[in-house]
Amino acid sequence: MGLLEGKAVVVTGGAQGIGLSIAHRCVSEGARVVLGDLDRAAIEVAVKELGGESVARGVYCDVTSADDMTGLLGAAVDAFGSLDVLVNNAGITRDATMRTMTEEQFDQVISVHLKGSWLGTKHASLIMREQKSGSIVNISSLSGKAGMLGQTNYSAAKAGIVGLTKAAAKEVAHLGIRVNAVQPGLIRTAMTEAMPQKAWDQKMQEIPMGRAGEPDEVAKVVLFYASDLSSYLTGTVAEVTGGRLM
Ligand code: NDP
Repeated sequence: MGLLEGKAVVVTGGAQGIGLSIAHRCVSEGARVVLGDLDRAAIEVAVKELGGESVARGVYCDVTSADDMTGLLGAAVDAFGSLDVLVNNAGITRDATMRTMTEEQFDQVISVHLKGSWLGTKHASLIMREQKSGSIVNISSLSGKAGMLGQTNYSAAKAGIVGLTKAAAKEVAHLGIRVNAVQPGLIRTAMTEAMPQKAWDQKMQEIPMGRAGEPDEVAKVVLFYASDLSSYLTGTVAEVTGGRLM
């Protein structure tokens, strides 16, 4: 019996990177998943890779739109009969020092990460409260704990996700819904492979374990929060960082 047998899981930004790894882990533990993403072609490929429509569906979803978010969450209920887990994972970076960062770059990052996670948490809780159970996992970042140069927008959004997680956890605990956050450090994905070599090397020096993390190492922690293994945890933050900036 898998840890998520018969559960329906929604992953935003699930067509690639950490989100797709989370989807793979969930399917391997018996869940059925719905991926929400902007990239329709990547969604289609990901659904096939996960094993086709009996276990995975894909929906176009811009997480900054309430209509798209409710459509995505509703798709899980329509296709698989419930919404047991939501992973708010979609993300972008628009790095620049404060001197050069535009208001647009600030707003875009706050909107995708913070508003997107808020919309997901709000609308998933409305469904989960009827079921009297559910787990919401918000993907923050070590940038939200420590603050990173060139990421005033991203660090603010990711720290905001921690506040959102804790406040929401308090509001919905009595309804049987848990809300937790994960703060990955340096994980090998398209987002970080775009980083200049010098920045990558600098980060590596801060990691006691001496290596970057793999997407599946984040996925395993998300699985822990998604499943009953963490049945008495809510409002917590797990750092998946190889010990960086502990
Ligand atoms: P990727 O860029 O590989 O994947 C992010 C996904 O989110 C993409 O498929 C992207 O689609 C999608 N997305 C972007 N904007 C939206 C939107 N408005 N609505 C729906 N989907 C959207 O990133 P990672 O896998 O590396 O990151 C996943 C999460 O983990 C992010 O929240 C990130 O901030 C966080 N994180 C990552 C770390 C790392 O080292 N990689 C470290 C700490 C945190 P498209 O490609 O079409 O834009």
